[in-house]
Amino acid sequence: MSVAKIEYTKQVLDRLVAFPTISSDSNLAMVNYLADFFGQLGARVFMQHNEDGRKANLFVTLGPDREGGVVLSGHSDVVPVEGQKWSSDPFKMLESDGRLYGRGTCDMKGFLACCLATARGMAELNLVRPLHFAFTYDEEVGCFGAQALMKELARRGIKPSAALIGEPTMMRVIEGHKGCYEYTTNFVGLEGHGSQPDLGVNAIQYAARFIAHLMELGERLKERAMAGSRFDPPWATIQVGRIFGGAGRNIIAGNCSVEWEMRPVQPSDAALVKESLDTFVNQQLLPEMKAFSPSAIIETIVVGEVEGLQVVAQSEARDILYEITGANGADVVAFGTEAGLFQEAGISAIICGPGSIEQAHKPNEFVDIDQLKSCLQMLSRLQAKLV
Ligand SMILES: [Zn+2]
Repeated sequence: MSVAKIEYTKQVLDRLVAFPTISSDSNLAMVNYLADFFGQLGARVFMQHNEDGRKANLFVTLGPDREGGVVLSGHSDVVPVEGQKWSSDPFKMLESDGRLYGRGTCDMKGFLACCLATARGMAELNLVRPLHFAFTYDEEVGCFGAQALMKELARRGIKPSAALIGEPTMMRVIEGHKGCYEYTTNFVGLEGHGSQPDLGVNAIQYAARFIAHLMELGERLKERAMAGSRFDPPWATIQVGRIFGGAGRNIIAGNCSVEWEMRPVQPSDAALVKESLDTFVNQQLLPEMKAFSPSAIIETIVVGEVEGLQVVAQSEARDILYEITGANGADVVAFGTEAGLFQEAGISAIICGPGSIEQAHKPNEFVDIDQLKSCLQMLSRLQAKLV
């Protein structure tokens, strides 16, 4: 690894960290910087804005205009710093003892900086297969950018054959993770005086029965754990994270919302849960509520359904990663990424990137400079697969 290349990568990372691209805020300043950068290299770029126009994905292509090739993908957003005790300004990169500190250094602007440093070298080559870069918005809050990007790629007929998502894995090759499906279920009953519970429809009590049913389903999912599963825990899980409802102790609760999630190991886990809930809600809970109050409602809002990354027998992305990292085995992880969305879109996907998930989302987030060096090495070996 040339000193110049790692120094250049550090400079780029310094610049990227200085964009405070917290998911709730605009990422356009950083996206414009990236678009300029790649534009100057002569790459083809397109931006895809979200509904309110405050955020955008950026998709970049080097090399020939044809199917196939590899896409290097990373999200542009970072998690908030509020309430965290940082020893330095989180949006000013700080180098100390072989580490680079700052929000996003590890998750995942370190990988993005390596992508830019690599692109600079590859832009001059005569690539036979295209090298794409995908920079997405809103990964940390539900992978909304990547979901929109998959539709846009299909619309434009862009079909890379393999995707590398550079989430922090300490450069280990990750071939699978669970899905992450998030929901809010709202209950609308009928308010009334607490002394006459039979004259209202208590939304909290119906929500409680719904939650009890979720917990039963959670137990059923345990029995579906596949032998030899490498996930921890090995089964799909359900978890209720927040509940709101009611106006006061002596008032029949007219409203209740339940925020819950499930982490399916396989798509059929999610299908089982959805089918069972549908039957329970529409054949039992809702008819009971409506019998007394015809305007009663139970509705489930899909906050996000991020697909899991299924371990598959044949994987072009995994073969490429084995070659360019020298690894001969791959793991699975508990955290979700955009990789499942690529796989769902028919693109072979794999995860490998610099830094540790241990440092992600924490105060004094950092990435080891050695990790960036390994990443740069991996990406330079990718060159051989494209020329
Ligand atoms: Zn991330």
